[in-house]
Amino acid sequence: MVILYIVIAILVVEYLVNEIVDYLNLKHELKPVSPYLSRVFSYMQRKKMHLYHLANYRTGFFSSLVSLIVILSLLVFDGFGQIDYWIRGYLDNEILITLAFFGFIGLGGALLALPWEIYQVFYIEKRFEFNRQTPALFLLDKLKGMLLSVIVGGGVLALVAWIYYNLNDHFWWIAWAVITAFSLFMTMFYSNLIVPLFNKQRPLEDGDLRNAIEETAEKAGFKLDNIYVIDGSKRSTKSNAYFTGIGPKKRIVLYDTLINDLSVQEIAAVLAHEIGHYKKKHVTRNFITGVLQTGVILLLFDFISGYKAIYEAIGAVKPSFHMALLVFGFLFTPASILIGLATSYLSRKAEYQADAFAANLGKAKALIGALLKLTDKNLSNINPHPAFVFMHYSHPPVNERIKHLESLQKKA
Ligand SMILES: [Zn+2]
Repeated sequence: MVILYIVIAILVVEYLVNEIVDYLNLKHELKPVSPYLSRVFSYMQRKKMHLYHLANYRTGFFSSLVSLIVILSLLVFDGFGQIDYWIRGYLDNEILITLAFFGFIGLGGALLALPWEIYQVFYIEKRFEFNRQTPALFLLDKLKGMLLSVIVGGGVLALVAWIYYNLNDHFWWIAWAVITAFSLFMTMFYSNLIVPLFNKQRPLEDGDLRNAIEETAEKAGFKLDNIYVIDGSKRSTKSNAYFTGIGPKKRIVLYDTLINDLSVQEIAAVLAHEIGHYKKKHVTRNFITGVLQTGVILLLFDFISGYKAIYEAIGAVKPSFHMALLVFGFLFTPASILIGLATSYLSRKAEYQADAFAANLGKAKALIGALLKLTDKNLSNINPHPAFVFMHYSHPPVNERIKHLESLQKKA
C-alpha cells in the first residue's frame, strides 16, 4: 500500500507544481518588458499574444485535470490490475499480453486527449490564424501516427518484453544494446523513413535563395546538398527550422513558411545558427546522453521489477513485465523531471552556442531580425516566468537571446 500512496503523492505534487508554474507564467507575461521589446511589439500585438497563451493555458488546465482524475481513479480502484486480469481472460502469452495492455492504455490515453486536440487545432489555432489542417488531414495524421506506434513502438516493446522473459539475468544490458541500436537507426533514418509519411521534403532548389545562402554554407563548411525545405505550411502558418541526423545522414530542414516570412539575409542567419548545432555536434551529444539515460533507467527497472510489493500496489494478478514497467514509470517521474530539467538546461546552452556560431559569421544582426519576426508571427511569449523557462524551455527566451547576440556583436 505504501507504494500506491507514494505514486499518488508523486502524481499530485507533479500536477500542482505544473499548474502553479503555468499560472505564474501566464501572469508574468503581462509584466513590463525591456524598453527595446516594448518598442518592437505594440500593445495590441502583446495583447494578442497573451490571448493566445490564455486560450492554451485554459485547455491545458482542463485536459491535465481530467487526465489526473482518470489516472488516480484507475490507481485507487485497481483499474490497471482489472485491465490486466481482463486481457488475461483472452490471451496467455506474456508478450502478447504486454502488447495488448499497452495498446489498450495507449488507445485510452489517445481517446482522452482527442477532444482537447481537436479543440486546440480547430478552435484555438484557427482563431489565431495558424491552422491550415483540414479535418481529413488531421484524421489521416492520427491514423498514420497510430499505425506507426503499433508497428514501431509495438515492435520494440515486444522485443524488450521477450528479452525480459527469456534472458532474465542479462536483461538490462541486452535490452540497452537493442534500444541503443534502434535509436541510432532512428536518429539516422528519421528524415528518410518517418518524415516522408507526413511531409514532403525537397532539396533547396536553384535560384536566388540558394545562391544567397551558398556563401554562408561554404564559409561554415556545410554541404548545401544537405539543406532541405519541408512543407510545414500544410498544417500551420507557424515557421521553424531544425538540424537533424547523425553521421552521413545529417541535414538542415527549413520550413517553407520560414522562407516566405524571412528575408534572404535572415534565412542565411537561421541557417548559420543550424550549422552551429552541427559544428558543435549537438545531435551526437544528445544521442550519447540519451543512451546513458536509457542504461540507468533499465538498470533501475531491472532492480525494481524484482519486488513483489510494486505489483500489489496496483492490484496485479501476478508479476509481469508490463505491470512493472507501469509502476516504474510512475515512480520514476521525479527523476525524469530532474533529467528533463538538465536536458532543457543543456539544450538552452546549446542554443547560445549555435547563436554564437552565427554571430561569428557576422550574422548577429540578421539573426536578431529573424528571431523578432518569428516571435511576432508565432505569437511566442516574450516575457515568460523564469520558473517556467527553467522547467520547460528548450530555447532561451527571445529577449535573452537578443541580449546575448547584441553582446557578441559589440565584441566583434
Ligand atoms: Zn537552435
